[in-house]
Amino acid sequence: MNGAALLLALCWLHAFITRRWDKHSTAIQLVLGMLFGAICVIGMLNPISPEPGIFFDGRSVVLSMAALFNGPLVAGVAGLIAGIYRIWMGGSGMAFGLAEICLSILFGLLYRHCSLSGKLAIGAWQLWFLGLLMQVLDMLLLPAAQAASSLEQTAVPLLLVMPVATVVLGLMLKEIEQRQRTELALQLRESRLRAITEAIPDTLLVLDEDGLYLEVTPSKKEAHNDVLTARIGQSVHDVLPQSEAERFMDFIRQTLASDSPQLIEYTRQSADGVKILEGHAQRLDIQLNGKQAVVVLARDVTQRVDDEHELRIAAAAFETQQGMIITDEFNRILRVNQAFSTITGYSREEAVGQRTSLLSSGRQSLAFYQSMWQQLKAVDRWQGEIWNRRKNGEIFPEWLSISAVRNTQGQVINYVASIDDTSERKAAEERIQRLAFFDGLTDLPNRSLLLDRLQHARDGCVRNGECAALMFLDLDGFKNINDMHGHHIGDKVLCLAAARLNGAVRVSDTVARLGGDEFVVLLEHLNKQPQQAAMQVEQITTSLLATLAAPYQIDGLELRSSASIGVTLFNDGSYSIDELMQRADLSMYEAKAAGKHTVRFFDPRMQEAVSKRLNLEQEIRRGLLSEEFIPYLQPQLDDTGCLVGAEVLARWQHPQRGLLSPAAFVEVAEHAGLIETLDLQMLQNACHQLALWQQQSATASLSLSVNLSARLLYQTNFVERVLQILKQSGADPHRLKLELTETLLLDDLPGAIARICELKAHGIRFSIDDFGTGYSSLAYLQQLSLDQLKIDQSFVRELPGDSNSLAIVRAIFALANSLQLEIIAEGVESQEQHIALLELGCRSFQGYLFGRPMPLIEFERLMLTHSMKVESEVPML
Ligand code: C2E
Ligand code: CA
Ligand code: CA
Repeated sequence: MNGAALLLALCWLHAFITRRWDKHSTAIQLVLGMLFGAICVIGMLNPISPEPGIFFDGRSVVLSMAALFNGPLVAGVAGLIAGIYRIWMGGSGMAFGLAEICLSILFGLLYRHCSLSGKLAIGAWQLWFLGLLMQVLDMLLLPAAQAASSLEQTAVPLLLVMPVATVVLGLMLKEIEQRQRTELALQLRESRLRAITEAIPDTLLVLDEDGLYLEVTPSKKEAHNDVLTARIGQSVHDVLPQSEAERFMDFIRQTLASDSPQLIEYTRQSADGVKILEGHAQRLDIQLNGKQAVVVLARDVTQRVDDEHELRIAAAAFETQQGMIITDEFNRILRVNQAFSTITGYSREEAVGQRTSLLSSGRQSLAFYQSMWQQLKAVDRWQGEIWNRRKNGEIFPEWLSISAVRNTQGQVINYVASIDDTSERKAAEERIQRLAFFDGLTDLPNRSLLLDRLQHARDGCVRNGECAALMFLDLDGFKNINDMHGHHIGDKVLCLAAARLNGAVRVSDTVARLGGDEFVVLLEHLNKQPQQAAMQVEQITTSLLATLAAPYQIDGLELRSSASIGVTLFNDGSYSIDELMQRADLSMYEAKAAGKHTVRFFDPRMQEAVSKRLNLEQEIRRGLLSEEFIPYLQPQLDDTGCLVGAEVLARWQHPQRGLLSPAAFVEVAEHAGLIETLDLQMLQNACHQLALWQQQSATASLSLSVNLSARLLYQTNFVERVLQILKQSGADPHRLKLELTETLLLDDLPGAIARICELKAHGIRFSIDDFGTGYSSLAYLQQLSLDQLKIDQSFVRELPGDSNSLAIVRAIFALANSLQLEIIAEGVESQEQHIALLELGCRSFQGYLFGRPMPLIEFERLMLTHSMKVESEVPML
């Protein structure tokens, strides 16, 4: 019992000391040595003593175990204490006793050595055998004198007890050692775990299956971020918004159900806005407080999500219409976008890894690149226009912007470049330039460019005293070509004429087209003497006339067109650009008037005409404003001699010059763009009159014909204007007839048809004036649903004698019959003509025979007496 108590006390004290202090330190070894020594001494206080001087006790057990588990120092100290005490006890067995002490320590150390080197395990049987071995050796060591008597009493109990005691003590110490080792390992693991928890940026949370926070370990980094933490005992419902709490609970359940880690992204409100958190969770294998639990590593990923969002935006922005290139600091391409491939022809795979010199066109000099890099180094930015080469070898202009990207140390790590293919823009600019300054059809300079060059030429003349010539050139009879063969043939003639003109002048001269068949030639650097210069010009014009007179071969047709040329010379700045243009224009008209295929030089008489015409334009403008233009009416009769209506013919009641006929103003008004106003005034007058006539039965059936110019017909709001005038006046549209000349209809036949149809739908009737003088094919007559043809007076004049005219008039009647058109003959001056026409089947007449154009009052007076008078004079057929 004593021994067992001692051994237990020894184990407990041993455990107490070694758990608190490091048993490898010398001081603790000394203490342990003293402890084992003291236990030996206490054991020796109560020995089995079969004979005086001979003691049997547990010292061999204690010392051998001290040596086995604690090493030589502990065993040495314990052995020393035990030895001293044994010496102090004295007696005949002292030497035997000391030998036993040494032997025990020796055996213990030997076993320790074998155990440490792995040759012998520490187990019950081994310990028992050790105990037995030591006991047997002890007995053998007894002096022979005492052996027999001592062993007789003690051998059996000693051999039974001591090996067992060795086993018990050994196993208890082993158990202590093992537990301490386990504890140490646990401590180590825990501190490692703590270090890991602190090192990772995540906050460690332990939550149970009900969502209660059981443990919250914030990471060092995020210690301040309370959006990740919660108080222990709080539930996820306390800290997360309702919907997020539900999701989080689902997540916990999912984690508990799974063996693998689970991931969740959730949000939580914080003082500075909504934070996005990410949690990695794993189920705990043990239950806490009887509930399942999960470990969650949570981190604030708001910044990362924002960054990712930014990245996505950046990625989307990267795929723009502009080509983008990202390179490293050595200009090696790291990334390109789709637009880059589209522009350059190099695919992503082909470009990445290459240097940007891949695109170099060789057009820029070394100095160019040097200055570019200098600027990039200085301000991290460069942009400008540069020529690069596409994969297919094509060189193209691009707008290049480069920015340098620096790292936190300020070193350039990337270059980002955007390229904008400017070739299309450049082409468009050129196109616009061409449209603005060149004629679309012939590619010759247009009016703007001509005026610019003329200004230059004039300035040049002022400087160097040389003469220059401005030449207006009009193709004779071009209109006929257009009318007869269509616009596309006309266009080809113009192009060929343009080419011929260009070929006939020097490169320094300018050939321009003003529109239609009007060309202008500007000759510079002529002789300083005007006479000499005139001769030079004369020569050039002769060759121009000759080249233009040559036949044009187009689509199997042989077409001819001569030209009329008007020239004005200048050698100083006395005339403005406008004046020079007017002079050349006027000379050209002179040339035309002189019989075409001729040249006319401007002379002072023409100047007078120019001034006159400008004056007249002003006068007409004024006259229109003060309503000096009045309608004269010329009667129109039927075949029974009844007055059926009148043609409205404009007269100008000029304040100084008296009454003027259209010959004095119509052409100028047309040229000046004033004829539309005049026509509308006449139309208004006519409608007003028709409305008045409608109110009396005698005049209600009269109709009025109004002349319209081409310009008015093609005005955009023409139809609306006419209808408006009709509506305002209240005139019956069926009584209104509009006279158009056939040639003007052909300028834009579809447009004319549309307008005529629209007005006809309202009851307005149409008549073709001067019919027979145009050159056009008559096909258009079918397309235009007209009402009346007005045979031109030139044919009527020759009746009845001229067989030619007779044939033409007959043909016109046949045509009109087949198309079911009315015919009116104008310019009927004599009875013979009237009779001839009646015989041909004409039913309507107009001419001096029946009445000249007259003022309204006169017309109304005539109306009253007319039918009787005519009836008596006009023969009836
Ligand atoms: P037009 O439309 O062919 O008009 C007929 C012209 O022949 C009128 O000349 C008329 O006085 C003249 N005339 C009529 N009967 C005879 C005759 O028996 N013998 C001769 N020798 N001549 C006759 P007018 O009034 O001088 O008008 C000349 C042209 O002026 C008109 O030719 C017409 O084209 C134009 N015109 C007149 N008024 C207007 C107008 O209000 N607007 C427009 N756009 N043009 C107008
Ligand atoms: Ca007329
Ligand atoms: Ca006429």
